[in-house]
Amino acid sequence: MLHRARVAEVGQDEAGAWARTDDGRRFGADLLIGADGHRSLVRRAVAPGRPDAEFAGYALWLGVAQERDLSFAGRWPGGLDIRDSGDHVLLGYPLASADGSTEPGERRLGWAWYDGTRNALFRRLGAVRGSVSHHSLRATDLDADVRDGLAREAASRWPRPWRDAIADSVARADFVGTPIAEYVPEHLACGRMLLVGDAAHVPTPMTGRGFGTSLDDAEALARHLRDVDADCVPGALLAHEAERLGPARSLVLSGKGFSSSFSRSA
Ligand SMILES: Cc1cc2nc3c(=O)[nH]c(=O)nc-3n(C[C@H](O)[C@H](O)[C@H](O)COP(=O)(O)OP(=O)(O)OC[C@H]3O[C@@H](n4cnc5c(N)ncnc54)[C@H](O)[C@@H]3O)c2cc1C
Repeated sequence: MLHRARVAEVGQDEAGAWARTDDGRRFGADLLIGADGHRSLVRRAVAPGRPDAEFAGYALWLGVAQERDLSFAGRWPGGLDIRDSGDHVLLGYPLASADGSTEPGERRLGWAWYDGTRNALFRRLGAVRGSVSHHSLRATDLDADVRDGLAREAASRWPRPWRDAIADSVARADFVGTPIAEYVPEHLACGRMLLVGDAAHVPTPMTGRGFGTSLDDAEALARHLRDVDADCVPGALLAHEAERLGPARSLVLSGKGFSSSFSRSA
């Protein structure tokens, strides 16, 4: 078992596939599964003509606030609350406490704020370069002016208790901003290499199905690899691709309508 090692390079020949870690170790096997997320290194080998997920033209701010930290005495939300306000969409959702309690005072509020107006900020801080989303921003990566601006905008744009939850997350500098990426795959398999999960398909989180589809990939792959000899691995991976490419493409395309209506060019 190998933990906390970064794969720096992958490759294959007719007999097997290999990965080299950034500390110089080389691991060989009959096949190599790229489950390495939206910025997949393995995708560079499987789909060299289109290796990168593309910036979708908007960002998502995410945070969670504790009920006990909010001065909100109104009616607790009963479920998902979606608010649409032009270049902004807010998803607010009540959550149990970290240990599962739904007792008043113990609960939490999660918030997810889609923002089409701060792309220039993500570019200035290097989170988006060219057409590629590189990384998320932590609250502590942001100037106080930017954080205060978010809290002020939340106060004017969103109703309680969501604006209270956002103000609390901003005051604690405990939230993240993610430049949203998308990737519609054309291939999943190449020889003895295969992509699964976000390496294979990157949908907007608005679909709410990225995780579940990744689990479906894993279940299908287990079936296709059951009792397969080393010589038959490339054929088994092609059979997996034939089953999973359609659902992978549908997943990402199902979010494209939202993205194209919400995307901003800056
Ligand atoms: C903001 C946001 C909100 C989301 N909300 C939802 C939701 O509500 N519902 C839903 O179903 N899905 C949601 N998703 C999507 C969901 O998170 C992903 O689909 C899921 O995490 C994909 O799992 P994965 O294992 O393929 O990739 P990841 O979870 O990205 O895991 C990839 C792993 O590979 C590792 N890795 C990457 N490169 C290397 C390397 N070179 N060497 C070694 N290790 C490496 C990473 O460190 C990471 O541990 C959301 C995504 C985002 C960004």
